[in-house]
Amino acid sequence: MPDIAFWNKCNNRCVMCTNEASFARHDPALYGLRAQVEKLERWLRGRGGVYLKNDEKRGFVSLTGGEPTIHPDFFRLLAYFRRRLPETGITLLSNGRRFADAAFTRRFLAVAAPPFAVAVPVHADTPALHDKIAGARGAYAQTMAGLDNLLAAGGAVDVEVRVVLHRLNVRRLGRLLASLLERYPDTERYRVTLIHYEIEGMSLANHRRLALRLRDSAAALAAALPRVRRFRNFRLYHFPRCLVRKELRRLCWVTLPKEDRVYTEKCRGCAARRGCLGLMAEYHKAFGDGELRRL
Ligand code: SF4
Repeated sequence: MPDIAFWNKCNNRCVMCTNEASFARHDPALYGLRAQVEKLERWLRGRGGVYLKNDEKRGFVSLTGGEPTIHPDFFRLLAYFRRRLPETGITLLSNGRRFADAAFTRRFLAVAAPPFAVAVPVHADTPALHDKIAGARGAYAQTMAGLDNLLAAGGAVDVEVRVVLHRLNVRRLGRLLASLLERYPDTERYRVTLIHYEIEGMSLANHRRLALRLRDSAAALAAALPRVRRFRNFRLYHFPRCLVRKELRRLCWVTLPKEDRVYTEKCRGCAARRGCLGLMAEYHKAFGDGELRRL
C-alpha cells in the first residue's frame, strides 16, 4: 500500500503529526495535479521509488497529507485516482473537517466509488481536548459533523474512526469510546482503530509532552475492555501482541513496513511472533524492549 502524500498543507496542527514541520513548506507544485498524475503514471508503469513509503505494495493505496481534502484540485485528482485504480482499495486519511459541509460530502461520494474508505482521527470526547491536540479551534465540531455526514451516506464508503493514543489523551480513552458508542450506536457502520502514536516528525519534536509507554496504552485499553467489546469492528495498530490481553491479540495488525519494525532477543522463539508487529523502531530507540515478554 503506497502512502501517497496527496497535499502538503493542513488546516490542523496535530501535536502528534508524523510529518516534519518542513513538509508544509515544500513547493506545493510537488503535490499539484500535474505532479500527482506524473507520479502515479510512473508507479503504474512499475517504476520503483516513486513513493516514499510502501512503494512496492500494490494491493491498495493510502492518500495522506497534510490534509488531502483541502487540495485545490481535490475532486479532479480523486476522480483521476479512482479511474486509474478502478479495482484498488483507496483509503483517504482525513481530519474530516471538510465533510462537515454536506454539499462537499455529496460531491465526494459521487466520485469515491468503492472500494473506498475514509479514516478520520478523533482525539478526545471533549471539544477542548480534541481541539488542543488538533491545534485548531472548532476542529472537534467540524470533525464530528463530518463523520455524521459520512455515516449518513449509509455505507457508500467505509468509515474508520482512528484514535491515536499518547499521554495527552490516554486517560480519556474509556470516555472517548463511550462517546462514540453514544453518538454512533450502530457499530456495524464503521470501524474503530486504536493506534499507539509514532515517534516521528512533529511527534518527535513534541515528545516530552506526548511520551507514553506501550504498557500504559495497553492498561488503558484493558480498562476500556467492556466498551471495546461493544464495537463490531475494532483494530489495534502498533501494539506488540505480548502487551495486550489474550482476547485482544487477534485485533493486532501489522501495518508498518519491515524497516520500521524491530524484533528483539525477547521475540526469539515467541509463540506469538507470527502476526506480531514487534516494536516500532523509533519506540525501541526511545524506550528499549523492557516491556516485552516472550509468549
Ligand atoms: S515477544 Fe516479540 S514477537 Fe512475542 S508478542 Fe512480544 S513483541 Fe511480539
